[in-house]
Amino acid sequence: MGGKLRKFVIGSLAALTLGPCAYVTCGGFYGIYRLTHYQKQKGDGHFNRKKDTMFYNEIFYEKDVLEDRLRGAMKNNKKVDYTLDIVVSEEVKRFFDDKEDYGDNDDWVDYVAESVEFLNEYNRAGIGFKIGKIEIISKEKMVKEIYGPKMCLINSSKKMVMYFTPHTRMKEFDGGRLEAIAAFAYTELGLMYIGISKNKHRNAILTLHETGHVLGLNHVPSNEYKRMFLDPFCIFYLNSFMVPNVDDCSQLKLKDSEMKQLREEHVD
Ligand SMILES: [Zn+2]
Repeated sequence: MGGKLRKFVIGSLAALTLGPCAYVTCGGFYGIYRLTHYQKQKGDGHFNRKKDTMFYNEIFYEKDVLEDRLRGAMKNNKKVDYTLDIVVSEEVKRFFDDKEDYGDNDDWVDYVAESVEFLNEYNRAGIGFKIGKIEIISKEKMVKEIYGPKMCLINSSKKMVMYFTPHTRMKEFDGGRLEAIAAFAYTELGLMYIGISKNKHRNAILTLHETGHVLGLNHVPSNEYKRMFLDPFCIFYLNSFMVPNVDDCSQLKLKDSEMKQLREEHVD
Protein backbone atom coordinates (compact mmCIF):
# COMPACT_ATOMS: atom_id res chain seq x y z
CA MET A 1 0.00 0.00 0.00
CA GLY A 2 1.49 3.37 -0.99
CA GLY A 3 2.22 5.99 1.64
CA LYS A 4 -0.31 8.42 0.29
CA LEU A 5 -3.02 5.80 0.17
CA ARG A 6 -2.24 4.62 3.68
CA LYS A 7 -2.51 8.15 4.96
CA PHE A 8 -5.85 8.49 3.27
CA VAL A 9 -7.12 5.28 4.84
CA ILE A 10 -5.91 6.13 8.34
CA GLY A 11 -7.40 9.60 7.97
CA SER A 12 -10.80 8.15 7.26
CA LEU A 13 -10.77 5.62 10.06
CA ALA A 14 -13.44 6.24 12.65
CA ALA A 15 -13.62 4.20 15.78
CA LEU A 16 -16.16 3.57 18.47
CA THR A 17 -14.49 3.16 21.83
CA LEU A 18 -15.31 1.25 24.97
CA GLY A 19 -16.32 3.01 28.14
CA PRO A 20 -18.26 3.04 31.39
CA CYS A 21 -21.82 1.76 31.47
CA ALA A 22 -24.45 4.42 31.87
CA TYR A 23 -27.40 2.02 31.83
CA VAL A 24 -26.50 0.88 35.30
CA THR A 25 -27.56 4.24 36.66
CA CYS A 26 -30.57 5.07 34.49
CA GLY A 27 -31.78 1.78 32.99
CA GLY A 28 -33.57 -0.26 35.63
CA PHE A 29 -35.64 2.58 36.92
CA TYR A 30 -37.41 3.05 33.58
CA GLY A 31 -38.17 -0.60 33.08
CA ILE A 32 -35.49 -1.51 30.54
CA TYR A 33 -33.90 -4.10 32.73
CA ARG A 34 -33.25 -6.37 29.78
CA LEU A 35 -31.07 -3.73 28.16
CA THR A 36 -29.34 -3.08 31.45
CA HIS A 37 -28.55 -6.73 31.76
CA TYR A 38 -27.25 -6.97 28.22
CA GLN A 39 -25.29 -3.80 28.57
CA LYS A 40 -23.43 -5.10 31.57
CA GLN A 41 -22.44 -8.42 30.09
CA LYS A 42 -20.33 -8.66 26.98
CA GLY A 43 -19.15 -12.19 27.80
CA ASP A 44 -15.75 -13.77 27.41
CA GLY A 45 -16.78 -16.40 24.90
CA HIS A 46 -16.16 -20.15 24.85
CA PHE A 47 -13.79 -20.67 21.92
CA ASN A 48 -14.90 -24.25 21.75
CA ARG A 49 -12.45 -26.94 20.76
CA LYS A 50 -14.26 -30.08 21.84
CA LYS A 51 -16.77 -30.22 18.99
CA ASP A 52 -14.19 -29.54 16.31
CA THR A 53 -14.89 -32.64 14.18
CA MET A 54 -18.25 -31.17 13.23
CA PHE A 55 -17.19 -27.54 13.32
CA TYR A 56 -16.77 -26.92 9.58
CA ASN A 57 -19.76 -29.04 8.61
CA GLU A 58 -21.87 -26.96 10.94
CA ILE A 59 -20.53 -23.57 10.05
CA PHE A 60 -21.13 -23.91 6.30
CA TYR A 61 -24.65 -25.13 6.85
CA GLU A 62 -25.25 -22.33 9.34
CA LYS A 63 -23.85 -19.79 6.88
CA ASP A 64 -26.70 -20.73 4.52
CA VAL A 65 -29.20 -20.29 7.34
CA LEU A 66 -27.75 -16.83 8.00
CA GLU A 67 -27.93 -15.98 4.32
CA ASP A 68 -31.59 -17.02 4.00
CA ARG A 69 -32.55 -15.11 7.10
CA LEU A 70 -30.78 -11.90 6.08
CA ARG A 71 -32.02 -11.98 2.49
CA GLY A 72 -35.52 -12.24 3.87
CA ALA A 73 -35.07 -9.47 6.42
CA MET A 74 -33.15 -6.98 4.27
CA LYS A 75 -35.22 -6.68 1.13
CA ASN A 76 -37.19 -3.52 1.77
CA ASN A 77 -36.18 -1.79 -1.43
CA LYS A 78 -35.78 1.93 -0.97
CA LYS A 79 -34.99 4.87 -3.18
CA VAL A 80 -31.32 4.21 -2.52
CA ASP A 81 -30.04 0.68 -1.95
CA TYR A 82 -26.59 -0.25 -0.75
CA THR A 83 -25.18 -3.69 -1.29
CA LEU A 84 -23.85 -5.06 1.97
CA ASP A 85 -21.40 -7.97 2.03
CA ILE A 86 -21.08 -9.81 5.35
CA VAL A 87 -17.78 -11.42 6.33
CA VAL A 88 -17.72 -13.49 9.53
CA SER A 89 -14.58 -14.79 11.21
CA GLU A 90 -15.00 -18.46 12.10
CA GLU A 91 -13.94 -17.34 15.56
CA VAL A 92 -17.44 -15.87 15.96
CA LYS A 93 -18.92 -19.37 16.05
CA ARG A 94 -16.28 -20.49 18.53
CA PHE A 95 -17.07 -17.50 20.71
CA PHE A 96 -20.77 -18.36 21.11
CA ASP A 97 -20.42 -22.14 21.08
CA ASP A 98 -20.08 -23.76 24.51
CA LYS A 99 -18.33 -27.11 24.35
CA GLU A 100 -20.60 -28.47 27.09
CA ASP A 101 -23.82 -27.49 25.34
CA TYR A 102 -25.00 -29.11 22.12
CA GLY A 103 -28.01 -26.82 21.87
CA ASP A 104 -26.07 -23.64 21.14
CA ASN A 105 -24.15 -24.63 18.00
CA ASP A 106 -25.85 -22.06 15.79
CA ASP A 107 -26.30 -19.26 18.33
CA TRP A 108 -23.83 -17.11 16.42
CA VAL A 109 -26.22 -16.94 13.46
CA ASP A 110 -28.81 -15.22 15.58
CA TYR A 111 -26.36 -12.70 17.03
CA VAL A 112 -24.96 -11.74 13.62
CA ALA A 113 -28.35 -11.67 11.88
CA GLU A 114 -29.98 -9.53 14.54
CA SER A 115 -27.10 -7.04 14.48
CA VAL A 116 -27.44 -6.61 10.72
CA GLU A 117 -31.24 -6.48 10.74
CA PHE A 118 -31.11 -3.32 12.85
CA LEU A 119 -29.78 -1.52 9.76
CA ASN A 120 -33.36 -1.45 8.48
CA GLU A 121 -33.67 1.59 10.74
CA TYR A 122 -32.06 3.45 7.82
CA ASN A 123 -35.16 2.65 5.73
CA ARG A 124 -36.77 5.58 7.52
CA ALA A 125 -34.19 7.85 5.86
CA GLY A 126 -34.93 6.35 2.42
CA ILE A 127 -31.87 4.10 2.48
CA GLY A 128 -32.11 0.34 2.08
CA PHE A 129 -29.62 -2.53 2.15
CA LYS A 130 -29.41 -5.54 -0.10
CA ILE A 131 -27.35 -8.46 1.11
CA GLY A 132 -24.49 -9.21 -1.29
CA LYS A 133 -22.26 -12.14 -0.55
CA ILE A 134 -21.82 -13.78 2.82
CA GLU A 135 -18.43 -15.25 3.60
CA ILE A 136 -16.84 -17.17 6.47
CA ILE A 137 -13.10 -16.60 6.83
CA SER A 138 -10.33 -17.82 9.10
CA LYS A 139 -9.03 -15.76 11.99
CA GLU A 140 -5.75 -15.23 10.13
CA LYS A 141 -7.48 -13.93 7.04
CA MET A 142 -9.58 -11.59 9.18
CA VAL A 143 -6.46 -10.02 10.67
CA LYS A 144 -5.03 -9.59 7.17
CA GLU A 145 -8.19 -7.95 5.90
CA ILE A 146 -8.06 -5.41 8.68
CA TYR A 147 -4.35 -4.71 8.20
CA GLY A 148 -4.66 -4.21 4.48
CA PRO A 149 -8.18 -3.40 3.39
CA LYS A 150 -8.96 -4.13 -0.22
CA MET A 151 -8.18 -0.98 -2.13
CA CYS A 152 -10.22 -2.08 -5.11
CA LEU A 153 -13.31 -1.20 -3.15
CA ILE A 154 -12.65 2.56 -3.44
CA ASN A 155 -15.48 3.50 -3.61
CA SER A 156 -18.31 2.27 -5.68
CA SER A 157 -20.23 4.20 -3.01
CA LYS A 158 -23.16 1.81 -3.17
CA LYS A 159 -21.19 -1.01 -1.65
CA MET A 160 -20.26 -1.75 1.96
CA VAL A 161 -18.60 -4.68 3.69
CA MET A 162 -19.24 -5.53 7.33
CA TYR A 163 -16.74 -7.79 9.12
CA PHE A 164 -17.62 -9.60 12.35
CA THR A 165 -15.08 -10.83 14.86
CA PRO A 166 -15.48 -11.64 18.59
CA HIS A 167 -15.11 -8.51 20.72
CA THR A 168 -12.32 -10.18 22.66
CA ARG A 169 -10.30 -10.46 19.42
CA MET A 170 -10.34 -6.77 18.46
CA LYS A 171 -7.08 -6.21 20.29
CA GLU A 172 -5.29 -8.60 17.93
CA PHE A 173 -5.61 -6.19 15.06
CA ASP A 174 -3.16 -3.45 14.29
CA GLY A 175 -0.51 -4.63 16.73
CA GLY A 176 -2.74 -4.23 19.76
CA ARG A 177 -3.46 -0.57 19.22
CA LEU A 178 -7.15 -1.32 18.86
CA GLU A 179 -7.46 -2.82 22.31
CA ALA A 180 -9.89 -0.20 23.56
CA ILE A 181 -11.97 -0.14 20.42
CA ALA A 182 -15.33 -1.87 20.07
CA ALA A 183 -15.71 -1.36 16.33
CA PHE A 184 -14.33 0.82 13.57
CA ALA A 185 -14.76 1.74 9.94
CA TYR A 186 -12.70 2.81 6.97
CA THR A 187 -15.38 5.28 6.09
CA GLU A 188 -14.20 6.16 2.57
CA LEU A 189 -13.89 2.50 1.65
CA GLY A 190 -17.18 1.39 3.14
CA LEU A 191 -15.46 -1.20 5.33
CA MET A 192 -16.69 -1.83 8.87
CA TYR A 193 -15.30 -4.06 11.62
CA ILE A 194 -17.60 -5.11 14.45
CA GLY A 195 -16.45 -6.69 17.71
CA ILE A 196 -19.54 -8.78 18.39
CA SER A 197 -20.47 -9.89 21.92
CA LYS A 198 -23.31 -11.48 23.89
CA ASN A 199 -24.78 -8.03 24.40
CA LYS A 200 -27.36 -7.62 21.63
CA HIS A 201 -28.12 -4.00 22.36
CA ARG A 202 -24.43 -3.18 22.14
CA ASN A 203 -24.09 -5.16 18.88
CA ALA A 204 -26.95 -3.18 17.36
CA ILE A 205 -25.36 0.13 18.36
CA LEU A 206 -22.07 -0.96 16.78
CA THR A 207 -23.58 -1.84 13.40
CA LEU A 208 -25.81 1.24 13.31
CA HIS A 209 -22.96 3.49 14.40
CA GLU A 210 -20.31 2.32 11.95
CA THR A 211 -22.80 2.27 9.08
CA GLY A 212 -23.73 5.81 10.10
CA HIS A 213 -20.10 6.88 9.70
CA VAL A 214 -19.88 5.30 6.24
CA LEU A 215 -23.07 7.13 5.26
CA GLY A 216 -21.57 10.39 6.49
CA LEU A 217 -22.90 10.84 10.03
CA ASN A 218 -20.56 12.32 12.62
CA HIS A 219 -20.48 11.82 16.35
CA VAL A 220 -23.10 13.57 18.41
CA PRO A 221 -21.29 16.51 20.05
CA SER A 222 -20.18 15.66 23.54
CA ASN A 223 -22.13 18.48 25.17
CA GLU A 224 -25.27 16.95 23.70
CA TYR A 225 -24.69 13.44 24.98
CA LYS A 226 -23.53 14.56 28.40
CA ARG A 227 -27.04 15.82 29.07
CA MET A 228 -28.32 12.27 29.39
CA PHE A 229 -26.77 11.85 32.79
CA LEU A 230 -29.13 14.55 34.04
CA ASP A 231 -32.09 13.43 31.96
CA PRO A 232 -32.61 9.68 31.69
CA PHE A 233 -35.45 10.17 29.21
CA CYS A 234 -32.82 11.01 26.63
CA ILE A 235 -32.56 7.27 26.12
CA PHE A 236 -35.85 7.43 24.34
CA TYR A 237 -35.95 10.93 22.86
CA LEU A 238 -32.68 12.79 22.62
CA ASN A 239 -29.83 10.38 22.60
CA SER A 240 -28.21 8.97 19.45
CA PHE A 241 -26.35 5.80 18.54
CA MET A 242 -23.74 8.20 17.13
CA VAL A 243 -22.34 8.91 20.61
CA PRO A 244 -18.59 8.23 20.50
CA ASN A 245 -18.72 5.74 23.35
CA VAL A 246 -20.68 2.52 22.89
CA ASP A 247 -21.41 2.02 26.56
CA ASP A 248 -23.05 5.40 27.01
CA CYS A 249 -26.84 5.37 26.86
CA SER A 250 -27.72 5.01 23.22
CA GLN A 251 -31.05 4.48 21.55
CA LEU A 252 -31.45 2.51 18.37
CA LYS A 253 -33.36 5.14 16.37
CA LEU A 254 -32.11 7.82 14.04
CA LYS A 255 -32.61 11.34 15.29
CA ASP A 256 -34.69 13.66 13.09
CA SER A 257 -31.62 15.73 12.28
CA GLU A 258 -29.68 12.62 11.26
CA MET A 259 -32.53 11.46 9.06
CA LYS A 260 -32.69 14.85 7.40
CA GLN A 261 -28.95 14.85 6.73
CA LEU A 262 -29.04 11.35 5.23
CA ARG A 263 -31.94 12.20 2.95
CA GLU A 264 -30.22 15.34 1.73
CA GLU A 265 -26.94 13.58 1.05
CA HIS A 266 -28.15 10.26 -0.33
CA VAL A 267 -31.75 10.36 -1.47
CA ASP A 268 -32.96 13.81 -2.59
ZN1 LIG B 1 -17.68 6.65 15.83
